[in-house]
Amino acid sequence: MAELPRSLPEFEARFPDEAACARWLLDKRWPDGFRCPACGHDKGRELGRERLTVQCAACERQVSVTAGTVLHGSHLGLRTWFLAAWLMATHANGISARQLWRQLGLGGYKSAWLLARKLRRAMVDPEREPLAGLVEVDETSVPFRAKGEPVRPGRSHDGRLLLAGAVEIKGKGPGRVRLAVIGDYSAVALGAFVAAVIAVGGTVVSDGWPGYRRLKEVKHDPRVVGDAPAHAVLPWVHRVFANAKRWALGVYHGLRERHLQAYLDEFVFRFNRRRTPHAAFDRLLGLSLTLEPATYQMLVGRG
Ligand SMILES: [Zn+2]
Repeated sequence: MAELPRSLPEFEARFPDEAACARWLLDKRWPDGFRCPACGHDKGRELGRERLTVQCAACERQVSVTAGTVLHGSHLGLRTWFLAAWLMATHANGISARQLWRQLGLGGYKSAWLLARKLRRAMVDPEREPLAGLVEVDETSVPFRAKGEPVRPGRSHDGRLLLAGAVEIKGKGPGRVRLAVIGDYSAVALGAFVAAVIAVGGTVVSDGWPGYRRLKEVKHDPRVVGDAPAHAVLPWVHRVFANAKRWALGVYHGLRERHLQAYLDEFVFRFNRRRTPHAAFDRLLGLSLTLEPATYQMLVGRG
């Protein structure tokens, strides 16, 4: 497969038109050549160049390169999808739907919002491996923004969303990260988070909060004794929380309650690929090939 674009001019050269994007999807879908999903036959005839469809030579089934992906059924061109994915994956801070709307010259904000939401959904790999080894775990809260209202910092508990974070410790630096919305700071909620994101046999490094005392399947290493500041013993998870909050304010001017997990997933996707931003683009569109298309109702209904 050809080299991935590292700059906007390279992107323009690599994906000059719809046909180039369709070709890329075709190679991605069948890296070893066409195989009919209906009958398994390995010979097909290509129909159309822009919305590439392959017709099986044996059973005549027509298979679109976008079938079963998040791009399927969209009225937007493939190139718009590719450019949006490239901007979201390679921009250090990502890009909001509002920025996409302007930069891509889309007709309406709703199109841009849906596009961003679908790509963000493709950022979670259902097959991803749980974190392993030494893992810092902590919880924090972020102020949430009610519809049409700016963030009001310093509000009490009911204006804030709770979230849990986990960061692998790899030598002197952070490895992979997970962030999740939680209902409360109870042992049940934190135990469920740890069970979901950390592999059996891993070690949770915590600040000693009682919510971590009854963990099963993982070891526990409470680091805070007495008045030691939490950021001194859990440096990486605190840095990730701080970065995520700054990002949320800068890019989105605060997060909305309903879509918080999706925004956290976007932050995590980018953080975990921070050293390979160009490969993130490939990953984003590649991942989208394994997901079922989401409808508007599914997207707006999910938290
Ligand atoms: Zn067939």
